Amino acid sequence: TQTPPYQVTNPATGAVLETFPFATDAEVESALARAAAAYETWRATPIDERVSVVKRVAALFSERSAELGELITTEMGKSPADAAGEAGFCAEIFGYYADQGPGLLADQPLPGHPGGRIEHLPIGPLLGVMPWNYPYYQVARFAAPNLVAGNTIILKHAENCPTSARAIAQLMADAGVPDGVYVNLFATHEQVATMIADPRVRGVSLTGSERAGTAVAEAAGRHLKKVVLELGGSDPYIVLDTDDVDATAETAWQTRIANMGQACNSNKRMIVMDEVYDDFVAGLVERASAMTPRTDADGYSPMVSRKAAEGLLAQVRDAVDKGATLHVGGELGDHAWFSPAVLTGVTPEMRAWHEELFGPVAVVYKVSTDDEAVELANAVDFGLGGAVWSTDEERATRVAQRLDVGMANVNLPAADGFADVPFGGTKRSGFGRELGPLGIGEFVNQRVFYVQ
Ligand code: NAP
Repeated sequence: TQTPPYQVTNPATGAVLETFPFATDAEVESALARAAAAYETWRATPIDERVSVVKRVAALFSERSAELGELITTEMGKSPADAAGEAGFCAEIFGYYADQGPGLLADQPLPGHPGGRIEHLPIGPLLGVMPWNYPYYQVARFAAPNLVAGNTIILKHAENCPTSARAIAQLMADAGVPDGVYVNLFATHEQVATMIADPRVRGVSLTGSERAGTAVAEAAGRHLKKVVLELGGSDPYIVLDTDDVDATAETAWQTRIANMGQACNSNKRMIVMDEVYDDFVAGLVERASAMTPRTDADGYSPMVSRKAAEGLLAQVRDAVDKGATLHVGGELGDHAWFSPAVLTGVTPEMRAWHEELFGPVAVVYKVSTDDEAVELANAVDFGLGGAVWSTDEERATRVAQRLDVGMANVNLPAADGFADVPFGGTKRSGFGRELGPLGIGEFVNQRVFYVQ
């Protein structure tokens, strides 16, 4: 059995604020039964009516952004501004699928076959397993397209996010989402496996670690269920040249420090050409040195938990013990406070070379050719995103085209923050896409309908 149960621990203070028991097996059965029963009516509800409900979901995310934000600041530490911003972004995601969903789901003609078409039909109750790093956004990108498509949802959130999980379910109910169409469940890992095995569940989407992805994909495979996995990343961020190294360092630093580095597509490995390297590293060190713990709006936030901060510290210490240079930061304070760090001289014997550093540590590598940059960029098992920077767009484009990733960007840190741009990875970063036109296609039956 798992311990502890669903619990809010403020990472800034260590205070344990609220605890919720795991769901009972009877509650799991009830969730499955409700999601299955609701599916029969939800799929038959005209899409315009589903869209109206989803529009109200969008409006409530917007109206409640400040109070929703407070919950996640307490649960996982992000700043109030970022937290409210995240809730606001969910309004855009629900709004996007409300506006675009009907068109994206419309029948597609089959050229050359006047009697044939491709339909996009819902497939049934889905299970979502979501992480704590963006407690609202992660749920929104799964729930929004699927509610429009006519699927129903059982949501198992991370154990440290029970109050935001509950707030989402309440918001759905207040928006008029019918009972059983969106069900929040404080499930154990075993109950997740039980639900995946249950014939009523038709698909599962997980955002989280490779470890969790493996467990869920194994269970899904055994029971032949469609699965979407959004897993970890160690995104390369290649700087070939720049005419303003300070601005380049500023963008790189802000990208890395966002959400205290706890983003799957954070620029975890900066790969910098030797002419730029010294000034670039100096720019990062200057910025890291200037950061202080957040008191209200400014400064850095705590990480999600003491355990996460200790884990990151162990990765940094392993690198330093094996010869890497820690230029600044990397100190564990009280509770989950960890000072933003800059690390160089990372080599393949170190954990930091091949593991994801899920926190505020900028790792910088020096290279001297474009080929070397590409080789290093592709040298990890992850393949989520990547960015290439240069004053010569054609050169940067040539390099970016060689990245083995799901999202490649030129002179842009990452094309995230858009509801209408798909998101996802390759290699061990997972498979399937969320957001944009692709995100609504994952859990639909593309039925071929042919009338002779
Ligand atoms: P995690 O432990 O994998 O947790 C994610 C979710 O999976 C939680 O709800 C967790 O539940 C559940 N889970 C874990 N093990 C499970 C199992 N054996 N069976 C069923 N459910 C299980 O994730 P994390 O390490 O806290 O989160 C960070 C990771 O997520 C990083 O690797 C990050 O890169 C990745 N991430 C990826 C994306 C993306 O879009 N690609 C976005 C954000 C984060 P409990 O809380 O109950 O353990």
